[in-house]
Amino acid sequence: MSRIAYVNGRYVSHREAAVHVEDRGYQFADGVYEVCEVRDGRLVDERRHFDRLARSLGELRIRPPMSRAALGIVLRETVRRNRVRAGIVYLQVTRGVARREHAFPPSSVSPSVVVTARALDLAGRDSTAEQGIAVVTVAENRWPRVDIKSVSLLPNVLAKEAAHEAGAKEAWFVDAEGYVTEGSSTNAWIVTRDGKILTRPADHGILRGITRTVLLDVIAAQQLTLEERAFTVEEAYAAREAFVTSASQIVMPVVRIDGRPVGNGAPGLVASALRRDFHRHAELG
Ligand code: PLP
Repeated sequence: MSRIAYVNGRYVSHREAAVHVEDRGYQFADGVYEVCEVRDGRLVDERRHFDRLARSLGELRIRPPMSRAALGIVLRETVRRNRVRAGIVYLQVTRGVARREHAFPPSSVSPSVVVTARALDLAGRDSTAEQGIAVVTVAENRWPRVDIKSVSLLPNVLAKEAAHEAGAKEAWFVDAEGYVTEGSSTNAWIVTRDGKILTRPADHGILRGITRTVLLDVIAAQQLTLEERAFTVEEAYAAREAFVTSASQIVMPVVRIDGRPVGNGAPGLVASALRRDFHRHAELG
């Protein structure tokens, strides 16, 4: 079956899907995106993803390309046309196509919209979660507005590549004070020796992950102790458990940090229980 992409009002063959060379997303990374999990062919946490999209667009003063209802229809139709039952749907909105000038184009320029969908190998993801993943730490080198889900991801790309070259699956950014901010495409968490779950507050230093937000409900329902505070790399080395969260990985246990085993070097009980219960708390659209 051939894949289909939505590009500016049309459903086109994925192989031929293209945007203009002067799209500001291409020229300046002047755009934002969302990644939503698809489960049973339905969108997971659509409302929260649309809330965050509206916020990202607002912060960058990009006009919403269409109503939420219309965008919801496009996402669903892209999922349907690609026959995705379990996977992800990707949505990108840029400031549109205009002659290459740094300053904003005239307000008559329409934002560009691209939507793609693809299946994920759930069995593969589950078996990765049973093994756990390795992470490495890298120096934080991103701009101070990583709370905006912008397509400007070069530091994240370089960090992920550094992780792969070190035989790891994810990189954790560490700020100048030695505190972990987040992963290159995930939020970062640890469980301390005395059973407290720590994750950095969602200020401007991290992206407020939708998975992170839902997980706060799972943690409350499981009556676990949460401390929303930054933790250092040393605390992570000494942790009983560690894990990362994102829409495509849900809760993924971390078993090595910079080559050192976390806890006993196997996925922890807390991470596994949170992963198991996650979808009971997520909204299925
Ligand atoms: N942090 C960063 C930098 C990300 O890129 C992502 C997801 O892409 C996340 C955190 C997790 O966000 P979510 O749970 O909404 O997927």
